[in-house]
This record gives sequence, structure tokens and C-alpha cells, in this order.
Amino acid sequence: MKVLVSGAGMAGLSAGIALGQSGFSVTLVERAKHLRVNGSPIDIRGDAVRMAQELGVLEAIRARRVTMSEEVVFVDREGKTIAAIPQQEINDSEEDVEIPREDLGDVLYRAQPEGNTVRFGDWIEALHDDGAGVDVTFKSGLRERYDLVVGADGVHSATRRLIFGPEKDYLKHLGFYIALADLPEEASAGRVNPMFNFPGHMVGIARYRDRALGVFNFRSPWIDYDYHDLAAQKAILAKAFAGHDEWKVPEIVAAALRDPGLYFDSVSQIHMPTWHRGRVVLVGDAAACATGLSGRGTSLAITGTCILAEALRRHGGDFEAAFAEYEQRQRPHVDRAQAMALPGGDLICPATWEAIEARNARLSAPRSA
Ligand SMILES: Cc1cc2nc3c(=O)[nH]c(=O)nc-3n(C[C@H](O)[C@H](O)[C@H](O)COP(=O)(O)OP(=O)(O)OC[C@H]3O[C@@H](n4cnc5c(N)ncnc54)[C@H](O)[C@@H]3O)c2cc1C
Repeated sequence: MKVLVSGAGMAGLSAGIALGQSGFSVTLVERAKHLRVNGSPIDIRGDAVRMAQELGVLEAIRARRVTMSEEVVFVDREGKTIAAIPQQEINDSEEDVEIPREDLGDVLYRAQPEGNTVRFGDWIEALHDDGAGVDVTFKSGLRERYDLVVGADGVHSATRRLIFGPEKDYLKHLGFYIALADLPEEASAGRVNPMFNFPGHMVGIARYRDRALGVFNFRSPWIDYDYHDLAAQKAILAKAFAGHDEWKVPEIVAAALRDPGLYFDSVSQIHMPTWHRGRVVLVGDAAACATGLSGRGTSLAITGTCILAEALRRHGGDFEAAFAEYEQRQRPHVDRAQAMALPGGDLICPATWEAIEARNARLSAPRSA
């Protein structure tokens, strides 16, 4: 069976392994010219840990684990620590693994089964599913036919748009924007990850190994801009933090505005009643983005692709039965993760000074063992 996977992010790369190991002939097509491996460390939790083991990548993942989120603190305008997030609010179990996104991308890329092809700098322009196969036209002009198309192209999935209709029909904006930028001048400057708040805004530094990232969150209604326009993203970020000279805010903002690899997006979930139509199926953020606030986006990418591959193996060519099983088994993971994201914004980015102070008081209160 010939399978096309659109997107070589965490879901696409996991799908490549799971489907390749199932004996399918897999092509991954990634819009970027290389793996997009920036971002802060991400977590692999719960069932995704066991499934990473089934994919044969758990050992390599554990070998590159970091423990960045052990030391997240909130600071005042002078940089003095006023509260800290305790470890038990971050991790569910000791089995959870935190790994830099670039390391996970590398591990998953290297683990692609021998027969898999990964094509960069190309993307799907049109899909025609005639019931017996899917004819795909790519941006490069290439035309190919596949038995199955897996959309793993992230929260702004083009596969979803082509098959299921406009993004706005499925996207639920949670009222925040996020940005991540390289902070070369902060690298190796300690282990603590400080965050500074003013109402509806958070600026912080996330450190792991010898790297430091500037982390931004701010509350805002939906903003219309072209997702691929870096200059537009930088202008939005600059405006959101303009006029603030507390702590290290100006330096971190300036570094973000210099960073050619800035990651910027709305914090938005994807809610769909079904993740398949005909021979096209969605996985990862394309199907059910929970947002970084859930801490579970990558776990969902892994569980979803493993469940999908297992269901396809079990049901042979019966895609309807395989997709029904995939949706029935993956839906509880998604519902839980999407619900978990909702309080996350209030923790790291409270809306008012009163809410910031209440959060700090709660975190610094003595705890019973
Ligand atoms: C650059 C980047 C940085 C991120 N940083 C963080 C972070 O710091 N913390 C966090 O919690 N989450 C982060 N995320 C999101 C996180 O990776 C996902 O929530 C999660 O891992 C699920 O993965 P996914 O593969 O479904 O989506 P993604 O990881 O978003 O991957 C989607 C992939 O599809 C590609 N793509 C997009 N459109 C097309 C197209 N039309 N055709 C082909 N390919 C396409 C993208 O370039 C990307 O490689 C980041 C995502 C990206 C892309």
C-alpha cells in the first residue's frame, strides 16, 4: 500500500515510522526545506511513552532527555523570584520524558524505515479521491497516486482545508499567542527558567543544555495575518510588548525581532467531529491540536499515529473500519489533553494584576507533603 504523509513534524515523522514498520510504502512531504526543529523542549507522557517504545525510539529519546521544567520561577520587575511552579504541577509520572524538540525530530527522522522517502520543499496543492485511490498534485508540479493520504501538517493543515473545508470551521482560538526565539546571549547563564508577567503578558527564558530561548505569551483576540509572513509576526509581537522596560523584557523582545527562526502562532485548538473522509485521514495537530498549554501535543501525535497504524494493520484494506477504530481509541486521549490546556493560560499568563498576585500567593504558600 502506498501512503503519502503530508508534514514531517512530530506526527508526520511518527507516522512514517509506524506505517513503514507496518510494511507500507511511505512518502513524507514537508513544506519547509529542512526539518523544522526549533521550539522549546516538549514532553512525552503516559501511553505515548509505551508507544515510543513500540516504535523502537524510546531508548534514543531517553538518552537525550532534559529536565528543563524542574526550575520554572516567576520573577518581579527586578528579576527577584516571587513564586515557583512545583514539579508535581508539571509532570504526571516519573516515566514522562522531556526532550528538546530538535532532538526528538532528529531521533524520529533517523528512525525512518529504510524504504521511506522524505521530500522537503514541496507540498500538496490538490487532492482527488476517486474511491479507489487518491490523485495528488504537488506544488512542484509532480503528480502521484496513493492508496492513502495522512494529513500531519499541523494546526494550519492544508490537507484539512482541501478535504474538510476552511480552518475557521474547526479552529477554537483560546485567546493567547505564543512566540519562541533563540537567545544566544543568555545561553549557559544558569539553570533557572524565569518568567515575568504583566497583565495578559508573559516573557520568560527557557534554558536547557547550552541553549536559551525567549518565551512569550500574550492574551489577544484573533488576529488576521499570513501565517507564513515572518515580518508580520514580528510586528505583532513588537506591538504586544511595546513600552515595557521591566526585567529583561526589552532585550528578549529585541532578540526575538532579530531571530530568523522565530516561532509564532495563535494558541488555538482544533475540534473536528471526524478525522477521516474517504482515503484521507488526519493525525496530530491537524486533527486535534490541544496546544502547548496542554503539554500533550507531541504525546497525541505519537499515540494517534501508532493507533492508526495498528488499526490499518488489523483491518487490511478496510479503511472505514480502520479509521473508526483509530477515532474511537484516540478520541479519549484528545478530549483529556484539550481539557487540560484550558487552565494553563491562567497559570502562566494571568489577565490582571490581581490574578498575577493570587497565582503567586498560591504557588508560594507552604504545601503539605
Ligand atoms: C517550528 C515549530 C515549533 C514548535 N514549538 C513548539 C514548542 O516549543 N512547544 C510546543 O508545545 N509545541 C511546539 N510546536 C507544536 C508541536 O510540535 C506540536 O503541537 C506537536 O508536536 C504535534 O505535532 P504535529 O506534527 O501534529 O505538528 P507540527 O509539529 O506543527 O508539524 C507540522 C509539520 O507540517 C509542516 N507543514 C505545514 N504545512 C504543510 C504543508 N502544506 N505541506 C507539508 N508540510 C506542511 C510544518 O512545516 C511542520 O513541519 C511547534 C511546532 C513547530 C512547527
